[in-house]
Amino acid sequence: APQAFRRYASAAPTAAFAGQKGANGKYTVTLIPGDGIGPEISESVKDIYSAANVPIEWEEVSVAPILKGGKTVIPDAAINSVRKNTVALKGPLATPIGKGHVSLNLTLRRTFNLFANVRPCVSIKGFKTPYEDVNTVLIRENTEGEYSGIEHEVVDGVVQSIKLITWDASERVARYAFHYAQASGRKRVTAVHKANIMKMSDGMFLSACRQVAKDFPEISYDEDLLDRACLQIVQNPKPYADRVMVMPNLYGDILSDMCAGLIGGLGLTPSGNIGRDASIFEAVHGSAPDIAGKSSPFIAGKGLANPTALLLSSIMMLRHMNLNEYATKIENAALSTIAEGKTITGDLGGKASTKEYTAAIIEKL
Ligand code: NAD
Repeated sequence: APQAFRRYASAAPTAAFAGQKGANGKYTVTLIPGDGIGPEISESVKDIYSAANVPIEWEEVSVAPILKGGKTVIPDAAINSVRKNTVALKGPLATPIGKGHVSLNLTLRRTFNLFANVRPCVSIKGFKTPYEDVNTVLIRENTEGEYSGIEHEVVDGVVQSIKLITWDASERVARYAFHYAQASGRKRVTAVHKANIMKMSDGMFLSACRQVAKDFPEISYDEDLLDRACLQIVQNPKPYADRVMVMPNLYGDILSDMCAGLIGGLGLTPSGNIGRDASIFEAVHGSAPDIAGKSSPFIAGKGLANPTALLLSSIMMLRHMNLNEYATKIENAALSTIAEGKTITGDLGGKASTKEYTAAIIEKL
């Protein structure tokens, strides 16, 4: 069904990066189970994929940092696996606090130049939220803006953080937004900005969007101020349905969490990090240490984690790889399990364990 197809879409920037098919007809995909609840929810996705006969072989790698030349880095085996397979599914990674530690999430983003963060925000039938008709996709520029990391003290008591906007990164994310709209059947791209104040930086972002829009005459294009968009979405998200919203880094970070709140929060929100060399799909939530078993992957989880966000991220991944038939089958099974409300996890108001919920989805495949 076109509606089902649209929900959790992704689109590879080029066919070369839509996964690598082996001689046995199966695709090899890197799986990074991650920390905390990561291994438990990854297990759930693997069980559902086996039951649905998805033609994917998982190449499981650890990104636990190792010491190399006095620096902590991600093991080469993990990096090489993602580079070779071009598509990865990733569980949450705990970010160590303290000096000298690398943020693994940031390292992966930088290593593979994951320039677009894609977050579909779609209401899930049967899960009660303030609105039932949220249906938009946010695409956040993922490499620059206020996150460029260029900060310095000018004089004592005065610091500067540089907001870096380049034509190339703006054009690249804008082009991806239109490409995504086309591939997922959405009719409009809206650029979200504050060019009334940041005339040069956001002004250039908008110029890039306008230029790219000319190459996609069948998709409408408009622009919205960030503050106005926030107000309107929380008052009535309906006019934002069927759109793709594209925006600079910081705005996307904030607006996408706000929209996640409108559809039921962290247990249900998937995302894709799209890059030139590879794409990595992951839940928006973190490692949830408060409900995880002990951090070793050999110790079973507590059964409290909701695997839906990772599963929906994997559905985006399947559509990215053009495995649409499997995506739709698994999506329908998961969404109807939630809509029925009988076998759902605690965060959704149910009593089912992670394994019971997984089994209920498998039964509906
Ligand atoms: P979190 O998302 O892990 O948890 C926030 C709350 O939501 C917790 O109460 C948790 O139990 C609940 N929750 C999250 N996912 C859930 C799920 N699938 N099912 C049921 N409940 C769920 O955020 P946090 O506690 O701030 O962060 C924990 C760690 O995760 C930190 O080290 C943080 O840096 C890291 N983190 C990683 C990523 C990532 O890998 N992309 C993203 C965010 C946070």
